[in-house]
Amino acid sequence: MTDLILAEISSNISLRQLNTFRVKANAASFLQINDVAELDARAHELACSNQRFVLGGGSNLLFIGDYPGLVLFPQLFGKQILEQNEKTVKLRIAASENWHEFVKYCLNEGYFGLENLALIPGTVGAAPVQNIGAYGVEVEQFINHIECFDLENGQKLTLTKNQCEFAYRDSFIKRAGQGRYLVTHVVFDLCKTPKPVLTYKPLKNAFQSLSKVSPIDVFEEVCRIRREKLPDPKELPNAGSFFKNPVVTEAKYHQLISKHPSLVGFPVDSLKLKLYKIAAGWLIDNAGFKGMMTGKIGVHKHQALVIVNYSDTNGENIWNLAKTIIDKIQHIYGIELEPEVRILGR
Ligand SMILES: Cc1cc2nc3c(=O)[nH]c(=O)nc-3n(C[C@H](O)[C@H](O)[C@H](O)COP(=O)(O)OP(=O)(O)OC[C@H]3O[C@@H](n4cnc5c(N)ncnc54)[C@H](O)[C@@H]3O)c2cc1C
Repeated sequence: MTDLILAEISSNISLRQLNTFRVKANAASFLQINDVAELDARAHELACSNQRFVLGGGSNLLFIGDYPGLVLFPQLFGKQILEQNEKTVKLRIAASENWHEFVKYCLNEGYFGLENLALIPGTVGAAPVQNIGAYGVEVEQFINHIECFDLENGQKLTLTKNQCEFAYRDSFIKRAGQGRYLVTHVVFDLCKTPKPVLTYKPLKNAFQSLSKVSPIDVFEEVCRIRREKLPDPKELPNAGSFFKNPVVTEAKYHQLISKHPSLVGFPVDSLKLKLYKIAAGWLIDNAGFKGMMTGKIGVHKHQALVIVNYSDTNGENIWNLAKTIIDKIQHIYGIELEPEVRILGR
């Protein structure tokens, strides 16, 4: 075994280049983790820090001030085939691999399923945290288990798919308290036989004249739609959908639709509770926010769910706009929007 050289924990580190909103914020303490063995070696020290947070690609966060605790920045890389047969493959992927590059790698190797999730920014390790989803697919469908490090007691643990308690943009890891679990690896089960998912209407429409659709076709169409609709954070800083789509009772849905016949909503089919998911983008658009600008921030002109930062450095201004939107939606529709983006810093 090689001797491990442990880096010093740094103080007062700028996070500006590490969040896709590009707002200014400093971390009181910051530690890059290059090897799982470093977590073992530092277990006691990490358990003693009373406020910590794991940072991936910073594409689902908003800093509204400096972070007063310890930011852990894993840099864990590597892909491994655990098992395979003619039909399936089990892959173990380290947390800091780039998500979109991983999706491309899978397609090139002939491992299918993730193509609808192309071009989602961020890391593999963050994907199960909010159970990323897009265009009719959620990542939970392909996760076998995840490997984590419990920062409170220094134990390594495996969470099976059931233990992850995946839900819409949610998981056990996300709920279990901030900074408790650091995902080190995610194990995926993928298929070697293409099974394109075309349940999302624009995808279905795009391919209606084709008799056969390949995963590469789906990948390319998803990338095309996303590039058309969503701002690239490198050009226009943002964190994707700022709000979750709210879920309401059937009675509330009917009350809303009678007042707003063009409302976009659909039944949540996994539950027998007769709930409806409402498109938060429709609510925000209909409330007049789409394309608006206030100071150096605004709501994207093509996608009302996305708050964009033209040139502000203060995350608090973005949060104030989000709160204005939340209040107005509550006032007009009686629905409380919940941020999908994690708010940090105070
Ligand atoms: C333009 C754009 C489009 C987007 N589109 C989508 C979309 O279609 N669907 C979707 O679901 N999301 C979307 N997102 C949101 C975002 O890309 C995903 O949530 C992504 O998984 C975040 O990855 P990240 O590495 O940047 O995580 P971060 O933003 O760094 O962190 C997000 C959360 O995950 C935790 N976390 C990160 N890494 C680890 C780890 N190794 N261990 C434990 N916890 C960890 C953090 O503590 C935090 O709570 C979009 C974002 C942008 C900017």
